[in-house]
Amino acid sequence: MLCSVIFRKLLRLNCRSYIVTTTSTMAPTNPSKGKKLKLVSRRLDDIMSVHDGIVKSDSDKREYRGLQLNNGLKIMLISDPKTDKSAASMDVNVGSLSDPKELEGLAHFCEHMLFLGTEKYPDEDEYSKFLSQHAGNCNAYTSEDHTNYYFDVGHKHLKEILDRFSQFFICPLFDASCTDREMNAVHSEHEKNVMSDGWRLQRLDKATANPNHPYSKFGTGNKETLDTEPKKKDICVRDELLKFHDSMYSANIMALAVLGRESLDELTDMVTPMFSSIKNKQLTVETYTESPYTEKELKVCMKVVPVKDVRNLVLTFPIPDLTEHYESNPGSYLGHLIGHEGPGSLLSELKSRGWVNSLMAGEKGGARGFDFFIIQVDLTKEGMAHVDDIVVCMYQYIDMLNTSGTPSWIFQEIKDLNNMSFKFKDKEKPTSCVQNCSESMHYFPMEDVLSAGHLVKEFRADLVEDLLARLNPDNMRITLVSKSYKDEVDVTERWYGAKYNLAPISEDLLNNCRKVIPSSKFHLPPPNEFIPTDFTIAPLPQGSSPVPELIKRNQLSHVWFKQDDKFKLPKACILFELFSPVAYSYPQHCNMVYMFTELFKDALNEYAYAAELAGLSYKFSNSVYGIHLTIKGYNNTQRVLLEKILTKMTTFSVDQKRFHVIKEMYTRSLKNFKADQPYQHASYFSHVVKSEKAWTKDELSAELVNLTLEMLQEFIPKFMKRLHVQMLMHGNLTKAEALKISETVEEILQHKALTEPLLPTELQKHRQFKIPNGSSYVFQYKNQVRKISSMLVYLQVGLQNTTDNMLLQLLAQVISEPCFNILRTREQLGYIVFSSVDRGNGVQGLRIVIQSERTPSYLEGRAEAFIEHVGDHLNEMSEAEFLKHVSSLAAQILEKPKKLGTETLKYWSELLSEQLFFKRDEVEAEHLKTLTKPMLQDFYKRYIHVSAPERSKLTIHVLGKNLDNCPTQPEPTCQGDLLPCPKLPEPTVISDVNQFKQSLELYPRVRPYLDINEAKL
Ligand SMILES: [Zn+2]
Repeated sequence: MLCSVIFRKLLRLNCRSYIVTTTSTMAPTNPSKGKKLKLVSRRLDDIMSVHDGIVKSDSDKREYRGLQLNNGLKIMLISDPKTDKSAASMDVNVGSLSDPKELEGLAHFCEHMLFLGTEKYPDEDEYSKFLSQHAGNCNAYTSEDHTNYYFDVGHKHLKEILDRFSQFFICPLFDASCTDREMNAVHSEHEKNVMSDGWRLQRLDKATANPNHPYSKFGTGNKETLDTEPKKKDICVRDELLKFHDSMYSANIMALAVLGRESLDELTDMVTPMFSSIKNKQLTVETYTESPYTEKELKVCMKVVPVKDVRNLVLTFPIPDLTEHYESNPGSYLGHLIGHEGPGSLLSELKSRGWVNSLMAGEKGGARGFDFFIIQVDLTKEGMAHVDDIVVCMYQYIDMLNTSGTPSWIFQEIKDLNNMSFKFKDKEKPTSCVQNCSESMHYFPMEDVLSAGHLVKEFRADLVEDLLARLNPDNMRITLVSKSYKDEVDVTERWYGAKYNLAPISEDLLNNCRKVIPSSKFHLPPPNEFIPTDFTIAPLPQGSSPVPELIKRNQLSHVWFKQDDKFKLPKACILFELFSPVAYSYPQHCNMVYMFTELFKDALNEYAYAAELAGLSYKFSNSVYGIHLTIKGYNNTQRVLLEKILTKMTTFSVDQKRFHVIKEMYTRSLKNFKADQPYQHASYFSHVVKSEKAWTKDELSAELVNLTLEMLQEFIPKFMKRLHVQMLMHGNLTKAEALKISETVEEILQHKALTEPLLPTELQKHRQFKIPNGSSYVFQYKNQVRKISSMLVYLQVGLQNTTDNMLLQLLAQVISEPCFNILRTREQLGYIVFSSVDRGNGVQGLRIVIQSERTPSYLEGRAEAFIEHVGDHLNEMSEAEFLKHVSSLAAQILEKPKKLGTETLKYWSELLSEQLFFKRDEVEAEHLKTLTKPMLQDFYKRYIHVSAPERSKLTIHVLGKNLDNCPTQPEPTCQGDLLPCPKLPEPTVISDVNQFKQSLELYPRVRPYLDINEAKL
């Protein structure tokens, strides 16, 4: 896998939510040269230069204009007259590397504080409240050399929110009481990461770097670095925050991107005055040209004991920052070759020896001035005994690259593929569009901001050779991760407690790498045969259906089809469900379907990798109903891949060696569940307890031990023998083509796997248990790995229907911001605090989730106090506020999909749930507008309030590892100015999940909105 800049993306501090979003980042600086252009704007006085002619994708209908204001601020304006959301992002070219030595985490803390009040808008929840009422969301992250703030909002409200946003950079308050409280959020954020291997390894890379290099700092920070330690030294953190903001936040190192419906001129007039008053302190950003690893920190091997049972080998080579060479991108050229997975590749060879399963290679993403090239593999049990051999293999591959020269046809192929994917690029979501632009403006000339990193122009063999020369043993670090090193580690990292050992790499290994014996196994990849050649867009016939239609129905299959009428790209999505009643009937069946999908992907990988490089991806996975297959990408080459997959699937034979490797991996992954985050455990058990059928990880593990190759080999044809196939084809395809594809599929199944159809009575899907009205149950589980606890309250409402769907979603919309504001910002219970609608098997309810250092019974008391408070909140809510929430939710429901795949998934979920409500969004949003505040209050009184007659409550307590026991009854805390907790009924403890389930009724399935028997075919 080519991994350019994946790693930095994975570990970002997204500070407002528990979901780690991934966005792309670019790297270093090229001051943009601006021309003075004539501009129709009243704000000409504030503008230093204007940049039109920004290179964009042919399929991009948005308009762009770059500006630089007199205060040095760079701005990208994006006009999209059809957008339903507006968005903006400000990127400040400063991050945790700039933290003062005695206040690690300050840049990150500053980022948290900026949200919480400004001189012009002093209320700490002003910004988030406004966004919640206007279909908006916000977040921010701090990396080594960037701090990025972003939001989206309903398109009518850009101006109002932008004014609030601009004040962050002009006059933030850093209110003293907020400062003390928000420190807890930063601390809790760190606590959440403490037991995560990704964060630990990143920390160890830094902790073992040159201690004088800023890279070695602890960027997240916690209470100790931001409170305890500074207090001892008489440092006032608030003063330092003000100082940091004052000295580091300067207009000339900021870049802003704004996207809205307005024209470019209107955006210019709106944005310029708001941001012109940010001070320009004439800062120069620091470039860290020294590598964080000096001679002393190289040629070392670090052994690490992970939290989860994972095994990895990573080679790290410090390299210079290559961003300035974005037009030739030597890093991606080498990443493409070393990370290749086709015949003759490094991965192919290591896999065939049974040593590894996956490989990634590419630039890791350092910071301005330095970077790393890494080669990373996971290790099988056998691979653990061959670590040195694997390293030598890597050098044999590098040696092959050295002797094959640097052929330019490979560059040409990369260039063509990149051109194609840029030309037919999917539309980006407004938030990712503005985020990418704001970060990239620091690095690339305005004209290239959108295309840099996508397009390459000029082949520079010299740069490739220079980079290749740096991949040598004297410029290398090795990281080895495995539980088996537990007796060899002797150092404990300070902030994460990760145990490791650092030792020089043996001279033997270094010598073997320096002088490798060439291997004939390795060769350059062959030319890619999957590159599409036909990009014709099929004409849309008159009277085409705006939603999927059933175009074929027989005993074996149902075929749904919709020709794309929105995106007009030469792409399509084809999805299949191979439904089998035996797929989940026993835990071992579930294991076998899983093993089948994994072994199948493993065997197909060498072939399918080329397709993936050429923009054609496939997914093959198991579900409780069987197997899902998805093929997405250019429709021109789709059928070749589909036929190959089906043929291989129907004649699949299991490789013995790979069977044992994959089974061992699966065994570990089931066990690794124990080290997941407590809030993930809470969600998981809430699902297990409510669902008609759900095998637990323990049940699966217990059965897996007995699984043999023969059992699996016998099971696969049985599974394939009796199936029901559901297909959805959506995109640049005609009905005739879709029918043709479905025929091919049926033919292969019937002739090669001898598949027969199922009986209609076998097509049953699972149902959900009904928690009786007026009851309250609690289930407790102990997390053996993490110190923090979590709690989830679920209030079941019942079967989905349009009115309840909208009342529940509206309630969730109304309480979401106060829930975050009260339980996280004010009470500081923990970093992860959220409320949402929970749906499964057609049944829905409201849930509140908190992960915290407090006990689950305490958290439940606080959640109940909040639920009680919701009653007053609804009473006090003005009609105008209510209507804002209604239109905010309507806007979110009606937000149009930006990509074909997103629209496909919407339809697919209707097919899988069998509700077939393809016009759900329009109908529900219309219905939403008929709801009144009294209706919402009645809904609350009926299902949610503690005295509600139809309240059906299930609580999950996940106890942290140091908590021996916890009361099952919520704690009715009401000290100080905390919201009072009402008197709560004694809950029933679920001590045996099975017995509990047997005592309950099941809900029916939701009736489909379409009668497919009446469909005209
Ligand atoms: Zn944060």
